[in-house]
Amino acid sequence: MILVMIIAWGVFALQITVKFGALTKMAPENRFNDIGRRIGRLFKTGFGQEKLIGRSRERGSGIMHAFIFWGALLIGVRELTLMGEGFISGFQEYLPLLGSDSILGYIYISVYNIAEVLVLSMVLVALYRRIWPKPERLELNWEGIYVLLFIGSIMLTDILFDAARLNLVENYGHNLHYLNSTEYGAEWQWAPFSILVATVLNVFGEGGNAFFYHFGYWGHVASMFLFLNVLIHTKQFHEITALPNVFLGSLDYPHAITPLTDLEDETLWEEGRIGVNKLEHLTWKQGLDLFSCTECGRCHDVCPTYLTDKPLTLKRFNQSLLYHLRNEESTLFLKGSTDEEKTLVGDIIHPDTLWACTTCRACEEACPVSIEHVPRIIGMRQNQTMMEEAYPPEMANTFKGLERNFNPWGIGYDQRADWAEGLEIPLMSETNTETEGQSGEIDVLMWVGCAGAFDSRNQKIARATASLYQKAGVKFAILGSEEKCTGDLARRSGNEMLFQMLAGENVETLNNYNIKKIVTSCPHCLNTIKNEYPQLGGEYEVFHHSQFIQQLVDEGRLPIGSNLKDTITYHDSCYLGRYNQEYEAPRKLLNKSGNESLREMERHGIESLCCGAGGARMWMEETIGSRINETRAEEALSTGASTVATACPFCMTMISDGITAKGKSETVKTKDVAEIVLEAVEGS
Ligand code: SF4
Ligand code: SF4
Repeated sequence: MILVMIIAWGVFALQITVKFGALTKMAPENRFNDIGRRIGRLFKTGFGQEKLIGRSRERGSGIMHAFIFWGALLIGVRELTLMGEGFISGFQEYLPLLGSDSILGYIYISVYNIAEVLVLSMVLVALYRRIWPKPERLELNWEGIYVLLFIGSIMLTDILFDAARLNLVENYGHNLHYLNSTEYGAEWQWAPFSILVATVLNVFGEGGNAFFYHFGYWGHVASMFLFLNVLIHTKQFHEITALPNVFLGSLDYPHAITPLTDLEDETLWEEGRIGVNKLEHLTWKQGLDLFSCTECGRCHDVCPTYLTDKPLTLKRFNQSLLYHLRNEESTLFLKGSTDEEKTLVGDIIHPDTLWACTTCRACEEACPVSIEHVPRIIGMRQNQTMMEEAYPPEMANTFKGLERNFNPWGIGYDQRADWAEGLEIPLMSETNTETEGQSGEIDVLMWVGCAGAFDSRNQKIARATASLYQKAGVKFAILGSEEKCTGDLARRSGNEMLFQMLAGENVETLNNYNIKKIVTSCPHCLNTIKNEYPQLGGEYEVFHHSQFIQQLVDEGRLPIGSNLKDTITYHDSCYLGRYNQEYEAPRKLLNKSGNESLREMERHGIESLCCGAGGARMWMEETIGSRINETRAEEALSTGASTVATACPFCMTMISDGITAKGKSETVKTKDVAEIVLEAVEGS
C-alpha cells in the first residue's frame, strides 16, 4: 500500500504542479478578498448545487447531477477511510466522530452505502442517456464513457468489498469489523445494500468471499488511483477544481467589467498586451475556469446564438481554449509564455464566434460551476478592437458617431433634448445647483439615454415616462446636450478607451451638478452608471424607471387601476434581470395595470432569452443562422398575449421588429412598461 501510494500520489503531484504552475504564469488577479461572502457562495452554489436544482429547465437531469456530486463528496471521505484500511484493519474505528461509540459513524455507513448504489444507478442512467437518447448538448465521446466506467467500477468494487467482508465476519468468523457496539449493533445493520449483495455472494463460500474481499479492495484502490491520475487530463479534472472555482468567483461581477487601467502604458501596446490574445493574457482565474468546465452543455442550451445556429457555443469555446491550454501548459509553466505565433482569436477561436455573443449572461447563470464567460469574451474583443482594429466593419460608423456626437447613430449632439420640446422639462443647467445641487431643486435626474433621445419609437417612451413623473409631482430635470452615451456599447465591443472617455466626461458632468439620484429608462445605462461609474469616481443612487415608477405607485402618487383590456406578456431585459436582479418591479406594475395576470413565456425571469441586442450586437449585422429577435418574438407570440411589454429601448426595437417579421404587428403591440402604466393611470 505504501508503494502504491508513493507512486500514485507522486505522479499526481507532478502533473498537478504543471497545471497549477501554468496558472501562476497567467495575469494576476485578487480573488481572496471577503472570505466570509466567498464561503457563503461556496455553500450555496457549490455544496448546495443551487444552479442544478434551482432552475425549472432540465430540473430532472440537474437533480441527477446534484446527487452524483453529493455522492462523490461522501465517497471522497470514504476513500480516505479506505486508504487507512490499507494500513490498519477497522481504520474507521479510530477516526474522531466516526467510531463505534458515535451514532455519526453508523449514519455515515448508511448514507455512503445508499449513495454508492445511487451513484451506480445514476452512472448507468448517464451511460444510457449518452448512448441512446443522446440529448443534443451531450456528445458521445470516449472520454465521457470511460469516466463513467471508472466511477462505476469504483462504486462496484467498494460494494463487493463490503459485502464480502460482511460474509467473512458473520459466516466465517473473520475479525474485520469497522464498527460494532452494544448500543448501535454491528455496522451491517446500517448498510441495507451490503446485506443484499452479501446474500448473493454467500453462494461462493469462504474462499469465494475472501477472493471478492481482496479483489474488491485492490480493484477499488487501483481504479481510484488510476482514475485520479487519468482524470487530471480529462474534463473530470473539474472534480478537483470546481469547488475552488466557485469559491474564487468574482464578487463584483456580474455588475462591472474590470477596467483596463494601464492604457497609457506604451510598452503594453508595443508588446500587444492590450486585452487578451494569448493564454498568458488571461487571468489565472480565467485559466482555472477552463479547467473547471464539466462539459455539461447547459451554457449552450440557453445561449441565444446557439439556439439560432450561430457558431458560438460556450461549451466548445471553452473546450477550444482548454485543449490549447492543455497543449501549452508545460511550455507556459517552464517558459512563462506560449508559442509566439499562435493567437487565441484567429488560431483557436474564430472571430465570428467571438463577435456573436450578446453578453446576455444566460450561460453564466446556467453554469453549475460559476464560469465567467463574458469578461473573457470582452477581453478578447478589447484586443481585437484596440490592438488589431479587427471589429465588425459596421462598428466603424458606430464608434465614429460616439466619438463625434456621443451617440451611436452619430446624430448631432445638440439635438439630444429635442424629444422633450413642449414638455416643460427643465435642463440641469437651468436649475439652481450652486448651493445644494440636486437636492435644492430636483428629486431626481432623468437619464434619457441615446435611444430615448434619438430613436423615434423610444422618444415616445421617454415622453410617456416624463409624463408619469409629472403626474406624480416628481421634481426632475434632464441633462440635454450635456448627456453623452454611457459607453456601455463601447465597453462591450472592446473599445475600452472610448468607454473611459465617454464615462469620464459623464462622471465629470454629474459630479459638477452634485447629482445623487438618477433614474434611467435603459437597463444598459442603469448597469453602467450604477455599477461601472464608481470605477471612475461616480457614486450615485441609480434606478430603472420601472423601479422608480413602482415606488411612486406604492406611495400612492400614481393612481393605477386594473383597467387595461390588453393581455400582456413581459420580455425580461438581460441587463435589468440577470445583471441587476430586477424581475419583480415591472411585473408588479403590469399585473396592476392589466385586468388579468401576466402571461409568462416559457423562458422568463433569470432563464429569459435575450432579444439579441446586448453586447453591442444592436449595431452589428446578424448574417449567420436565424435571427435571435424573431426567435424571441415567436416565444412571445406563443403566449397568445395581445401586448408584449419590454423595459429596455433595445429590447423594444428588437421585439417589435421580430413581431413585424412574423407578420403580427397589426394584432400584437410592443409597449414599454412605462407606456402601459401611463395608459392605466390615464384610464383610471
Ligand atoms: S461552461 Fe459551465 S455550463 Fe457550459 S459546459 Fe462548462 S460547466 Fe457546463
Ligand atoms: S452571454 Fe449570452 S450570447 Fe454570450 S455566450 Fe453567454 S448565453 Fe451566449
